[in-house]
Amino acid sequence: MCRSLMLALLVLGTTTCSAEAAEWNVGVSKIVITPESPTWLSGYGSRDKPAQGKVHDLYAKALAFESGDGTRLVLVTCDLGSMHWGIVRPVAAAIEKQHKLPQANLIINVSHTHCAPEIAAERPVFYSLSDESEAAIVDYIEQQLVPKLTTLVGQALDDLSPAKILVSQSTASFGKSRRFPTDDGFVNRQNDDGVTDDDVPVMQVVAPDGKLRAVMFGYACHNTTLDFYKYCGDYAGFAQYDVEAAHPEAIALFLMGCGGDQNPYPRHGPQALEYCRQHGRELADAVERAIQAEPIEVHGPLQVAHETVQLALEPLPPRAQLEREANSGNAYKQRKAKYLLNELDTHGKVMTEQPCPLTVARFGDQLLFVAISGETVVDYSRTSKLEFAGPMVWVAGYCTDVFAYLPSQRVLLEGGYEGRTGIVHQLTPTPFAPSVENTVMGGIRRLVKQVSR
Ligand SMILES: [Zn+2]
Repeated sequence: MCRSLMLALLVLGTTTCSAEAAEWNVGVSKIVITPESPTWLSGYGSRDKPAQGKVHDLYAKALAFESGDGTRLVLVTCDLGSMHWGIVRPVAAAIEKQHKLPQANLIINVSHTHCAPEIAAERPVFYSLSDESEAAIVDYIEQQLVPKLTTLVGQALDDLSPAKILVSQSTASFGKSRRFPTDDGFVNRQNDDGVTDDDVPVMQVVAPDGKLRAVMFGYACHNTTLDFYKYCGDYAGFAQYDVEAAHPEAIALFLMGCGGDQNPYPRHGPQALEYCRQHGRELADAVERAIQAEPIEVHGPLQVAHETVQLALEPLPPRAQLEREANSGNAYKQRKAKYLLNELDTHGKVMTEQPCPLTVARFGDQLLFVAISGETVVDYSRTSKLEFAGPMVWVAGYCTDVFAYLPSQRVLLEGGYEGRTGIVHQLTPTPFAPSVENTVMGGIRRLVKQVSR
């Protein structure tokens, strides 16, 4: 397109089509997604009532990228606890129809805040919701969230205009491993000596006139400082508000990293909201340090590759065991067993593999972006950063389909909540087979090769 534009400008005798303008077009947009009426809140099985007001609004935000050859990618970030195909598919289908953007070039990432409407696909096994609560969630998804996400992505694509892309990094340290080893196995507790990823990758989108249009930043940590009944983006929500307050001309987007086994500390209790503001401030300060450092300009072209790998699962327990669990005293085991028995009765089988969508986007020689689905644990970002080092490697977890915890081989073999026991809350029938990390990393390696031609 730019070539014909340049020809036209040459014919007109002008030479104003700069190389910079041809390199990237970027579009930005944001939309409030706070439910219009109270819904059940995400993430904690112990919840016993719907939301009661809000601390601040929840947002979905989008960055649309288009490199000189017309390749496009849209990244959506949301102050939500979960995401799944029931939401992504209708949004992607509408966008494909209206804007010819392939579904594979749309990534929807969630911050995993536990103070958002509970939209998770696994809610029938996680909770025992009343018909009224379930209807309110379905109404929110169908009447508010899906149309708003569709509008948001469309607006970002309509906003595509020349921009410079800059990346840099800093660190924050309130996110720590929550896998604490004891004689009885790994328990959910702060482990200062555990495996973490402190990196805060930052992307700036700058207009040709120097105006900052967007700041996207990542961190690998659960948004679980809060455990109350108000809508709130948790630390990521506060960090976005703080960055936007410092740069009122820009939108700030939080992209969740591989924080599946990381919690913010301190957390919960009567001072939780204060802790949350502090963590948000620490993250916003880290973003500011990265902006003030010497960011690297990202050049094109953009190359995007997508693959869904199939993750092997442990075999389903015998029917007799499921029937026993369906009548056991443990409400979680009961609901999961009933769900699996119902699947067997309705479909004659249950899913024996878990599909895991993966996307890799290469931004020239400067940035390699890896998007993984599931509640991705921190080993995936650390391994990817080591293995694909050269460009800056930015790894996002919690993309497109947050089906269950996605353990690495280490976390799986260590066991504990993210390795094994958390699966009771998920639609994924059984824990992953030990091949899980090899299968995921194998998929990522193939995609990295594809975008590195
Ligand atoms: Zn989680």
